[in-house]
Amino acid sequence: MSSDPRPTLATTAIHAGEFHDPTGAHIAPIYQTSTFTFEDMDAVEAFTNGESDAYVYTRPGNPSRAALAAKIAALEGIGLGGGRDQVKAEIFGSGMAAISAALMGLARAGDHLLTQQVLYGSADALISNVLTGYGITNSRIPALDPAALERELETHPNTAVVYMETPANPTMSIIDIARTAEVAHAHGVKVVVDNTFATPVIQRPLEHGADVVVHSTTKYINGHGTVVGGAVVARDSEWMTERIKPLVGGLGGVPSPFDCWLTNIGLKTLPLRMARHSENGMAVAEYLDRHPAVVATHYPGLPGHPGHEVAARQMDAFGAMIALDLGSYEAATHLLDRVKLAKLGVSLGNVDTLIQHPASLTHRLVPPDERAASGITDGLVRLSVGLEDVEDIIADLEQGLSG
Ligand SMILES: *Cc1c(COP(=O)(O)O)cnc(C)c1O
Repeated sequence: MSSDPRPTLATTAIHAGEFHDPTGAHIAPIYQTSTFTFEDMDAVEAFTNGESDAYVYTRPGNPSRAALAAKIAALEGIGLGGGRDQVKAEIFGSGMAAISAALMGLARAGDHLLTQQVLYGSADALISNVLTGYGITNSRIPALDPAALERELETHPNTAVVYMETPANPTMSIIDIARTAEVAHAHGVKVVVDNTFATPVIQRPLEHGADVVVHSTTKYINGHGTVVGGAVVARDSEWMTERIKPLVGGLGGVPSPFDCWLTNIGLKTLPLRMARHSENGMAVAEYLDRHPAVVATHYPGLPGHPGHEVAARQMDAFGAMIALDLGSYEAATHLLDRVKLAKLGVSLGNVDTLIQHPASLTHRLVPPDERAASGITDGLVRLSVGLEDVEDIIADLEQGLSG
């Protein structure tokens, strides 16, 4: 064994962060309590003097949440060797609460934020409409092209953050994390990656130079559609303590212990699920790519995808999110009305297949001209390929696309 053995993903997903209470319960209990009591004033004093790090109240901390945070931090930091002990995570009540905290933890009034054109609808609204009201301005760079990024960083020396999604929701465009981090870091700017579509099982942005990773744990990490949640993960534990911890307590956007417990259980099978998701995703993408009714299939695993080479470099597999363009709203509606196995609804990353129309649902808040600039056409359909037998998924799409 080497002195710094790289832990394996499957074992880490199952064992990291787990703890046993004094009863010896095999699965850590749900600490469904708002507050924690002290034995006496000596115990209070030990806590006040920093001699013990007792739990006090569930908003600042709860064991069920700490277990989930430790597991996510261990997975995102798995490839960082000695640096992985510095990786810390905080869990939030939604992906948006996590993204809000990460951006507020990096940018202050007077700062600028650079991001790609296409973003998850609510992240887009946060950056375009909410943060601007607090004095944090932004500009968009299609696909964060490095030369254009360099120019924008020079134009906006007050830039504090480069924020990206890769693969992007919903268009599946890919951004080179390492290249972006190199350009941003040369200007002293931090890089945040929304890793929701990939998960740490198939992409670990910290290994490619990103400073902060955000997640909607609602999606693959929980995986079973039972919870809304989010996470902020960073390699700088000091920043987590100084900037994110106060936002956990101050904004108070924390999930219930039960939600954390459910998410932790879901996360244990993430490596297994992502392997099958990625197999099914590839098979469905290849099927759609050949189908005459499909105008374009956007999936980074297809050799014709413009981001394929970058994706192959920074991802270990290509996941199960696919965007397909059917050319018109009518053609998209035809498919969405006919599918039976695939359920028409937002969200993604569940064990079952979900399908939706971004222009009408997830990205309806993005103004039409911005949607067009982002490639979110009226014919675009987003598919989250589930873990059903892949021939059943394809048969459902086949009957949906026919007629
Ligand atoms: C769903 C999603 C979010 C928001 O997460 P919530 O848990 O719904 O708040 C952010 N980013 C991406 C890429 C998402 O898919």
